[in-house]
Amino acid sequence: MDGPNLVRRGAAAVLAAAICGGLSTLAPSAGRVEFAAAQRNGPSPPEAPEPAPEPPTPDCTRAKCVALTFDDGPAASTGELLDILAARRVKATFFLIGKNVAEYPDLVRREHAAGHEIADHSYSHANLGRASKKKIVSELTRTQDEIRRASGVTPTMLRPPYGSTSKRLAEITREMGMAQVLWTVDPQDWDSRDTEDVERRVLAAAKPGYIVLMHDIHRTTVKAVPKIIDRLAAEGYVFVTVSELFGGRLTPGKEYVQLNSGEPQGLP
Ligand SMILES: [Zn+2]
Repeated sequence: MDGPNLVRRGAAAVLAAAICGGLSTLAPSAGRVEFAAAQRNGPSPPEAPEPAPEPPTPDCTRAKCVALTFDDGPAASTGELLDILAARRVKATFFLIGKNVAEYPDLVRREHAAGHEIADHSYSHANLGRASKKKIVSELTRTQDEIRRASGVTPTMLRPPYGSTSKRLAEITREMGMAQVLWTVDPQDWDSRDTEDVERRVLAAAKPGYIVLMHDIHRTTVKAVPKIIDRLAAEGYVFVTVSELFGGRLTPGKEYVQLNSGEPQGLP
C-alpha cells in the first residue's frame, strides 16, 4: 500500500517545485512542464480523496468464509445485484450461461470489473452429465469464447447444470483446465419465488466453508441478498469467491462442494 502514497508524495514534491519554479524568473516554463507531467503520469490528482483499501483476502482455513454463487445469468436483474454487492463490498462468483453472456456482455464486463469471479455454466443450460463428448466440448468452448470476448477472462471453473456430471465430463474439464464446482446450500430459489423463504433457507443452512447456490435471474432472489449478507456478516462471516474459499488452488477436473470436504483443497 506504500506505492501510491510514495508516488503521491512525489507528486506533491514536484508540485512544490513547480510553484517555486513559477515564482522564479529564471525557469518558469520548465517548472510548469514538470508539473503538467506529474499530473498526467500520477496515479490520481493530488486533491483526489484516498480510495479505501481493498480488504485483504481472508485465510478460509481460519476465518468463517462463505462463498455466494449466482447461476444462469446474466439477466436484467443482475445489475441490481451488482449494486447490492458493491454497496456491501462483497465479492461473489457468477456461473454464466453462454447465450446470456452473448445477450448481456456489458453485465459480464461489469461483474469482472467489480472483482467478482466469473465461471462457466454451459452455453444452453445443457445436461452435461448425459451429453456426448462432442456436445460437451461445444457447450463449454462456446461459453468460454463468449466470456472471453465480453470480459477478457477465460474461466477455470465449471458448474454443470443440475449438478449433473460424469466421468466423461470430469475428463473433458480436466483437459480444458476447469474444476467442477457444485454447492452445499441450495435454497431452491428457482422453485420458491418468495424473498423471505430464500433468506430463511440460506441463513438456516449456511456454515463456514460452504458454497451457497442462488440464481440472479430471479428478482425475488436478488431482493433476498441484502438481508443474507447483513445477517451472516453480523455472525462474523466473510464473503469470498470460490477460488478464494479454496485458497486460490482448484484442480482441473475435480469436484468441489465445500471447503474441507475430503479432497486436498488448497490447504497449507
Ligand atoms: Zn443453472
